[in-house]
Amino acid sequence: MSSIIEIEHLKKSFGDNLVLKDINMNVNKGEVVTIIGASGSGKSTFLRCINLLETPTDGKIMYQGENVLAPGYNLPKYRTHLGMVFQSFNLFNNMNVLQNCMSGQITVLGRKEAEARKIAIENLEKVGMARFIDAKPAQLSGGQKQRVAIARALSMDPEVMLFDEPTSALDPEMVGDVLQIMKKLAESGLTMVVVTHEMAFAKEVSDRVIFMDKGLIAEEGTPEDIFVHPKEERTKEFLHRVL
Ligand code: ADP
Ligand code: MG
Repeated sequence: MSSIIEIEHLKKSFGDNLVLKDINMNVNKGEVVTIIGASGSGKSTFLRCINLLETPTDGKIMYQGENVLAPGYNLPKYRTHLGMVFQSFNLFNNMNVLQNCMSGQITVLGRKEAEARKIAIENLEKVGMARFIDAKPAQLSGGQKQRVAIARALSMDPEVMLFDEPTSALDPEMVGDVLQIMKKLAESGLTMVVVTHEMAFAKEVSDRVIFMDKGLIAEEGTPEDIFVHPKEERTKEFLHRVL
């Protein structure tokens, strides 16, 4: 399997709080990696370091074999290869659904308006939101907003999609729809890194599960390794609490 992203000895501190201690992991093409772990263990910081919303304190992030932290590396280009979906949607509230899905394509990728519109609509169809192209985010439910956020990220043709607890802010009845869409994306071969509290999703959809504890990867393996035969005491304790 070929790695798209390789993370080596990643560290991140905020002041004297060392939040990521020494993270090593890779993401292979077409793979779905889920990251589980207690609140405060550094999962969001890790995702935010991968796409450089946070600057790592130390370590390497290799994308297609090149260190993205090396001087002179084309960071804006790198960021376009990664799609991000946040817990809090982060849609542009002054734009309608269609504009939300078009604007990055035009301003960042330089696509023509007609092409951007076509791609936006295709992706809105994928998430079942094409009927809402004229709606403003404020008119949508949380689940609908998150589906638009996914369509917006997909419209940038990312190599890798990063999801940070995409269903945590949703009313329970909306969670299933969003997970279903993510499952479909996973089955389509999209490379995904998903931070989630949805253990059933992690179990069913992941190729690999990473359990983070206090800024370190405490254990990783197949869903069966982690959920059925966890080796580490910390993993067992965590699963005992959440399952
Ligand atoms: P998780 O997503 O696993 O809940 P986070 O990555 O959000 O964990 O947080 C890990 C630790 O990093 C927490 O102690 C949090 O307070 C700290 N942290 C996260 N972001 C910042 C920030 N921007 N400034 C200072 N501390 C932060
Ligand atoms: Mg988090």
